[in-house]
Amino acid sequence: MNPRPAQSPQPHQPQRSTAPAPVAAPDPYFPNSGDPRYRVHRYELALDYRPGPNRLGGTARLSAVAVTALAEFALDLAEFRIGRVLVDGKAARYTHRAGKLRIRPAKALAAGAAFTVEVHYTGNPRPVRSPWGGLGWEELTDGALVASQPVGAPSWFPCNDRPADKATYQIAVTTPSPYTVVVGGRLLTRTTRASSTTWVYEQAAPTSTYLVTVSIGQYRPVALAERPAVPQTGFVPERLTGPFAADFGRQPAMMACFEEAFGPYPFGEYAVVVADEELDVPVEAQGVATFGTNHLGGGWERERLVAHELAHQWFGNSVSVADWSHIWLNEGLAKYAEWLWSERSGGPSAAARAADAHRLLAGLPQDLRLGDPGRKLMFDDRLYQRGGLTVHALRRALGDAAFFRMLRDWAGFHRHGVVDTADFTAHAAGYASAPLDGLFEAWLWRPELPPLPV
Ligand SMILES: [Zn+2]
Repeated sequence: MNPRPAQSPQPHQPQRSTAPAPVAAPDPYFPNSGDPRYRVHRYELALDYRPGPNRLGGTARLSAVAVTALAEFALDLAEFRIGRVLVDGKAARYTHRAGKLRIRPAKALAAGAAFTVEVHYTGNPRPVRSPWGGLGWEELTDGALVASQPVGAPSWFPCNDRPADKATYQIAVTTPSPYTVVVGGRLLTRTTRASSTTWVYEQAAPTSTYLVTVSIGQYRPVALAERPAVPQTGFVPERLTGPFAADFGRQPAMMACFEEAFGPYPFGEYAVVVADEELDVPVEAQGVATFGTNHLGGGWERERLVAHELAHQWFGNSVSVADWSHIWLNEGLAKYAEWLWSERSGGPSAAARAADAHRLLAGLPQDLRLGDPGRKLMFDDRLYQRGGLTVHALRRALGDAAFFRMLRDWAGFHRHGVVDTADFTAHAAGYASAPLDGLFEAWLWRPELPPLPV
């Protein structure tokens, strides 16, 4: 399917290969997260959440395959009280320390064996601490939300916390009936018993653990677009439905713009939650984006965030990074999507936006290597700006026709897949009439800012 050209050597990545390895390496930025010796293909979570006491209890059932023979394996899970752990229905021994649930099945697993794990757990979920603040499950004044990027998922469910280990999900959440529960995917059933309601969602598309989300709050649904377009619904505090409709009124047009530029929207629906609090930044999840009340109010600085989060559905969520060192692929393409929306909606051109970003970067320290920024700089604003500029440089080098074919094919060939930077540079080379090695060397691997491409 993929007419991938012969790969040109990547001067700074001699160890990388696009051939599937039997056992993936640990994440270079988060070596303690995940266990590459097995893969999960499905999670079934049945959770009960009480917002007042912030109490979460539940059962997680994982269907997995051993990549290598396993006498023991590890799941990532923050501090919870563990009730039972079963492997293939039989009680298993385990230890639970420092965010790792290490499980020793009664019988060792053979390489290639399919197995199930069931974990019963209860506790008071709280965010995982990180240099970027709390990650994962966050209690709100009235409800809760989840924003896990990059390693917050273990704050609320046991998982193999690697972006490359994508799985399907069924998530059932029981909570007091006044609350609305939003999870990415299709709502299968909603059942009320006594004063509680159970919401069951199915996420059929392969999903990275950090992109699994739950929002619980007193929200009112606002339809932005219905079939035959991609259904788009806002979940918004009652008093903010007016401002929301004004600010997100252009989102269906953005959806159409991005479908034209990147190909069909990769999921069945798109939900936008406006949590009833101020949030530092909006966050993307699979088929969902979460904003704060401070992200309403109009103007380009807010509108660009709506475009950015929507673009992540293609870049990051559908086409996902193999490990966190490749994060520029998510953020550079989402940043460029902001500029593309500006250009196509009658605002300043992408070239003008790129010139602004270049001016900004020229006045800042130039010590960031975009293709491997290191954990400390992975969410640095310079990575976003330079990522957008790199995509812009590529557009200049390829010309519009080849550039947009390249972009659409990238999203199409790798739909619901996992990629790295070498995949992208090799893919782009297939659309160029001259070698791109110099361009990628300058933009991805050298810290100095190259001149603005004109
Ligand atoms: Zn982003």
